[in-house]
This record gives sequence, C-alpha cells and structure tokens, in this order.
Amino acid sequence: RKELAKGSPLSWQETKQKASHVRKHGLKQFINIYNKTKDTRSPALKWGDEIEYMIIALDQSAKTAHVSLRSNEILESLQREEIENPETARFLWRPEYGAYMVEGTPGKPYSGVLKDLLTVEPCMIQRRKEIQKYLKSNEIAVTLTSYPRLACPFFSEPPLPQESSSSKSTFFPDMAINHMYPRYRAITFNTRERRGDDYHIRIPVMKDQLTRNSITEVFEFEEEEVEETLTESIPNFVCYDSVDGMGYCCLQVTFQAFNMDEARTLYDQLAPICPILLALTAASPVHRGFLTGTDCRWNIISQCVDCRTKEERGLEPLSRDRFIIPKSRYDSISAYISNEGSRYVKLLILMYNDVPVVLNDHYLLELLEAGVEEPIARHIAHLFVRDPLVLFSEKVDQEDEKEIDHFDNIQSTNWQTVRLKLPLPDTDVGWRVEFRPCEVQITDFENAAFVCFIALLTRIILSYKLNFLIPISKVDENMKRSQEKDAIKNCKFYFNSNPFDSDSDEVTEMTINEIINGKDGYFSGLIPLVESFLNATEIEAETHQRLHDYLRLISGRASGELQTAASWIRSFVRSHPSYKFDSQVTEEITYDLITAINQLEQGTRKEPLLYGY
Ligand code: ADP
Ligand code: MG
Ligand code: MG
Ligand code: MG
Ligand code: MG
Repeated sequence: RKELAKGSPLSWQETKQKASHVRKHGLKQFINIYNKTKDTRSPALKWGDEIEYMIIALDQSAKTAHVSLRSNEILESLQREEIENPETARFLWRPEYGAYMVEGTPGKPYSGVLKDLLTVEPCMIQRRKEIQKYLKSNEIAVTLTSYPRLACPFFSEPPLPQESSSSKSTFFPDMAINHMYPRYRAITFNTRERRGDDYHIRIPVMKDQLTRNSITEVFEFEEEEVEETLTESIPNFVCYDSVDGMGYCCLQVTFQAFNMDEARTLYDQLAPICPILLALTAASPVHRGFLTGTDCRWNIISQCVDCRTKEERGLEPLSRDRFIIPKSRYDSISAYISNEGSRYVKLLILMYNDVPVVLNDHYLLELLEAGVEEPIARHIAHLFVRDPLVLFSEKVDQEDEKEIDHFDNIQSTNWQTVRLKLPLPDTDVGWRVEFRPCEVQITDFENAAFVCFIALLTRIILSYKLNFLIPISKVDENMKRSQEKDAIKNCKFYFNSNPFDSDSDEVTEMTINEIINGKDGYFSGLIPLVESFLNATEIEAETHQRLHDYLRLISGRASGELQTAASWIRSFVRSHPSYKFDSQVTEEITYDLITAINQLEQGTRKEPLLYGY
C-alpha cells in the first residue's frame, strides 16, 4: 500500500529527470489495468469513510493545547491488530502528513447502504476509543479540521524551534511533518523546488472591532510583506509560506459502483454537490492564531500544494513541451467524464465542460489507440500533465504488467474534489468514486450524519436518475463561494433546479437552504428527495429514526437554524472572556476551545445551536 511505503525518495533533481519515465510507465500501467478491468461488475455495494484525527496535548496549569507529535508511536500500537490479523482487523490506521495526525477507516468497507447505515456511527465511536487507548493522560484525539494556531511559534508538544525546514517555511518546522514516512517531507520539499518561486498565501484576517491595521506579528519574518501591505493598504492577511496547509484534517467517503459507467455517472453527479457539502461542513475559521474571513480549508491547501512553475501559471513565456495549467493539483475537477444517454445529453455534457482542460496530446493519442474510451482517456491525459512529486529509488523500475505504482503516483497526487478509483486487478475491488471535499466535524454524530447523507445522495442519484450537472465554470464559482465566511447565510449557488430531467439545463442560483430543504415551485430539495426515497424503502424503525436525526441536523445547518462548526468556533472565540476583539486567538482561547470540543465529543457538553439538542 502506498501509504505504508517507507522507501528512500530520490532527490528532486533525480525525480524531475525521471518524470517522463514515471508518466510513460504510469500510462502503460493504466492501460493494462483498464484493459483488464474495464468490464468489471461489482453487484455488491461497498463503501466506507476515512476520518483524520489530530492528537492534542493539554497542559492544564499553563492553559495550552498544542499538537502532540506522537502520532507515529500511537500509529504503531493502532496498526498492531491489522498486522497480526489483516482479515479481522476492526479498523485500518494510516499515517498522515502532520506528525500529530492519524487516519482511520473501518476494517472492512460497509456493505449495502440501508443495512449498514446504523453501523457507521458506532464504528466511528469505536475508532475514537481505540486511539484513546494509546494516548497519554494529558492527550486527546480530536476531529478538528484546522488546529487554530498551526504554524504559530511553539504550536507543538514537544515545542520546536522555528528554523530551517524542507519547505523553507519560516513557520512550520520539519519535525511537525511526519518523519517516519519520507513521502511527506519529500512532497513538501519537492513542491517547493518544483514551483521555484516563493509562496504568498494570504488568508484575510476577519476584521473585528479592535483589529489593528497592520498585524506585525504575522509579518515579522517577511519585511517585504509588511511594506507591501502598508503601501497597498489592503486589509490584514495571515500568511503561509509553504506546504503547511497539508496539516489539516478532512472527511472522505468512497463508494463502489456497479460498473465503469455507473462510476462515471457518480463522479459527474457528485462534482456539483461538492461545494454545497463543503459549505455545510465548514469548520475552519481560525488560521495561524487569527480569526479569518474564510470558513474552510480547501483553498488554503490548494495554494499550499500548488507546485506549478511560473510559466505553468502563465506568468512567464512557455518553453517547449510545457503547458499553462489553470488549476492547482488540489482543486475542483476540470471536466465531466460520463458518456451515457441521448445525443442531446452527450452534447450537453460537452457544453458543460466549459473550462479549458489541459491535456497531454501524446498521451491522449496513446490512450485512444489502446482502446480507452474518449472521456476516460481525456481524464487520464489531464491527470498526467502533472509531474510525480515523490519517487522512491526502490520503485523506479517496474514491470508494467504487474505493478501500478507509477500510475498511482500521478493519480494519488491529483487531489481533486472527486476521484475516480480504478478496480484493482485480480481482486474483487471494483470501480469506485471518492467524495473528498468535506471538512471533518467535531462529533461522530455529525460525521456519521454527513457520511450517511452522502451515501443516500448516491442512492437517489442512481435510483431516480437525477441530473445535477451545471457548467464546470459554475461549479468552480460555487467552490469559491462555499468557503466564504457564513456562506450558507450570505451566498447563492448555481444549481440544476430540474434534476428529474436528464437533459435539463435550468441553472438557477439558489441558497443552500433552498437546495437542501426545497424551494416552492422550483425544486423539491435534496432532503425531501432523500426522505421520499426512505419512505418508499423498507427499513427498520430504529434505522429510520436515526437517519431522521441525521437529516434534521443537515436540514438545520442549511436553514441557518443550526450553526456550522465554523460559525460556532467563531462565536466561541468572540465570546471568550479574554478575547480582545482584535481577531487574535491566543493560547488560552485555543486551550478553552479545544477543551470544549473534547467535551462535545465526549458528550459532556451541550451546544443546542450546533446540534439542535
Ligand atoms: P484512500 O486514502 O486511497 O482514499 P483508504 O483506503 O484510506 O483510501 O479509504 C478508502 C475507503 O474506501 C475506506 O473507508 C474503505 O473501507 C473503503 N473501501 C474499501 N474497499 C472498498 C470497495 N471495494 N468499495 C468501496 N469502498 C471501499
Ligand atoms: Mg490518502
Ligand atoms: Mg486514506
Ligand atoms: Mg487522508
Ligand atoms: Mg481518501
């Protein structure tokens, strides 16, 4: 498995020299997998979630809550069950970017939606308990999308000096990056090297009553920035200067499809849903110790891992064999890939692919000649404009008939909102689609609610043959809006208001409330659609009741009756007795916030505004 790989990464210079080699063989590997698996059918619905956790060390007397850099020690204990008994392991644990993060999934995928929906939340609760077993008495595991003081001085336990690092980051020391798995540091270093010029990632500070006009603490490492800020007299920005953004946590769900066509339908239909779910799960308003003008992690990560060179970003003339690449490798998808339905529907899909998709023409030709269907060939030729970011010396030479690492290398570093996962040859793992935009929620109740809601959405999309497609440019615009502060309250989103008609092109701007709960005379609403699906299906009363609780949560978030985690965190900070209305989220506020979050997770604190009870 790729995440378990502990090889020796080549230097960036060597990796760069081998980039064409990796792509060439990655493409051959793709063609082999495709030819072996394109007709794979998977009658069993399997699916599963991934949750990323942060380990936090609390110091009660100093009132500090710092990220604890012990995830590898903890991971070793967590993985013992899988190593001893891979067949019966209850959970699978994987490393993540931060040395304070771990990722957990169910040991086996869930099977059949309605049957297994009620096992999702207990599985999450058990996973959290499992981590807790291996924590020190002062440590807790939280599902928090962004640690509020990430990359602030001494944000970790043990504290680290803010000195030179792989990313040349002045804020994020190397030791906070997972060092047992060299892949992560190599990604950091190589992203920086590949890009060539400096990062200027600016997250606007949320202006509060007493926020100073120039926040010098943030800029003290970068004198130029201060000057620029003053001369342009733009509002304050919090800066990141490297790949630090990979240290955020998220919630993902993967669904197996019946066959390739169904996977492509799900891929396309879920893409316009991504910004809506991103806004509903918004959970990260504090960055580098400041309340900011954004509610989500997505764009920050997107900028942090943006390895495009100046010429690829269109800032310098292009040399031969290079492309202008409009998007970061971490971004919303670039094109729809399904190819079903009437000629009219096919034309509509072409029309909706209205943003430039950069492709490698040679690869496109090779894929088409090998018999790969055009939209899939275009999809792969698009993913393959990227260089590999990391290459292990042990993996350079591969037998393309048997191995898939070069393909995986490119595929797994295209971090888009949805991902088409290929079947694994010679296994029963079929065509899958991964839904990737959601921010992780504070409690298992909420995480289960969103995971079950997304699972039910996939069922109504397929059963009712819904069509949510809108132009990709509108999905991109929705992605921007979805991350704004209080997007649910303040923004409208492009939406296909007539999803029952496969060739409908009625794109309307609606609020999230209208999209989720319905708009009289226009659109019945996603939750009423899910409800009617549930009513038409035989399910046990207990299951129905719990699902009803989940849907009520999401309905309440959409209507504004309940708060998103992002707006709850904002109001927690702003009503903290020591908050100075200067946008600063101090060590003490962070300590109290994380303590409160832990109490919510443990069920010892109630927040009716977040959950409705
Ligand atoms: P990645 O990190 O590559 O996205 P993970 O293995 O971490 O993948 O998570 C994949 C998720 O998909 C897990 O929840 C897992 O239970 C689930 N899963 C595993 N096998 C299948 C399958 N055949 N079909 C659908 N989902 C699966
Ligand atoms: Mg992963
Ligand atoms: Mg994973
Ligand atoms: Mg992960
Ligand atoms: Mg994943």
